[in-house]
Amino acid sequence: MKVLVTGAAGFLGSHLAERLLNEGCQVVGVDNLYTGTRENISSFASNPNFKFLEADVCDLKADDFDKVEEVYNLACPASPVHYQARPHFTTMTGIKGVMLCLEIAKRDNAKMLHASTSEIYGDPLVHPQKESYWGNVNTIGIRSCYDEGKRIGETLIADYIREFDVDARMTRIFNTYGTRMHPQDGRVVSNFIMQALNDQDITIYGDGSQTRSFQYYSDLIEAFVRFMRLPKEKVRAFFGLPDRPPVPVLNTGNPGEYTIKELAEKTLEKLPNSTSKIVYRPLPGDDPKKRKPDIELAKKLLNWEPTVSLDEGLSKTIEYFKSI
Ligand code: NAD
Ligand code: UDP
Repeated sequence: MKVLVTGAAGFLGSHLAERLLNEGCQVVGVDNLYTGTRENISSFASNPNFKFLEADVCDLKADDFDKVEEVYNLACPASPVHYQARPHFTTMTGIKGVMLCLEIAKRDNAKMLHASTSEIYGDPLVHPQKESYWGNVNTIGIRSCYDEGKRIGETLIADYIREFDVDARMTRIFNTYGTRMHPQDGRVVSNFIMQALNDQDITIYGDGSQTRSFQYYSDLIEAFVRFMRLPKEKVRAFFGLPDRPPVPVLNTGNPGEYTIKELAEKTLEKLPNSTSKIVYRPLPGDDPKKRKPDIELAKKLLNWEPTVSLDEGLSKTIEYFKSI
């Protein structure tokens, strides 16, 4: 099986590429190393079944590749700090990068799985979020480059499914954390752990009452692979019913919901020798107040649900950050 993984040097992409290589796939990994690192792929870089291409997904040409059977599109900065540092690049990655991946899938008659996000729900007015919810997104705020990039990506995928019969699927990923996150990634789990390990202030933005649902990466990778491997006919028959989205899209996340203050306290409980203190900083614009996935559709279609609790996942992630 020949597989293209974009964003392969990132946190999730490197875990996915490694899993596919362990199953005997030939993997072409593409990454421009904006937030990804060569360190993330170092454990399998010399595997003869792995080829790494340092390139921007917006410059991909189908001619750069031999025919592939599966395309996983993960290339896109995911941390607010990094996507907000380069908003135009982020928006274009959402538009052009997704389109070029779709062109490759179309040319090769390959399956495609796209990493969409819970951010397409914006600051949600419906709780928990089901796939049928259309979201509440600001088109011109500081998060818009990411949110709208992911939303147009979903639209493009729906277009290619309807107009060109491309076998594409999307997962709306809710906050996922774990080993290989960059210590300076800027997202909340890695920030709190790094701050606690270094006896620095734990920076809660706002009053810490906003909620997120945290998924350990291994649960997500399992959902990715299960979704991709389903035959097209089964996927097409599942979606399009009156109570379901018209095209294949699944929430993938852990429904356990925590306030950010609870996360800070949990992190400190796990590092009792830390002298860090919780401090409060201004809440950035458009920061969603509540987020929790409804995963009934993924449970039914994939026979899947998350198995790693926040306690277990946090402990593993802490051990990782201690080791690097
Ligand atoms: P990450 O930043 O570690 O990985 C993203 C990777 O994509 C990096 O290696 C980066 O260098 C690469 N990249 C970015 N733009 C690129 C471009 N234009 N061309 C080539 N490579 C590019 O973040 P992650 O958490 O591993 O996210 C992976 C994917 O999952 C992203 O698409 C992200 O939007 C999506 N996602 C992640 C989460 C999460 O909580 N981790 C939640 C929702 C969606
Ligand atoms: N956050 C925080 N302190 C930090 C980093 C993030 O309080 O050092 C908050 C952030 O404002 C948001 C939540 O934690 O409410 C999750 O932030 P993250 O950047 O991880 O992901 P998001 O879900 O906002 O994209």
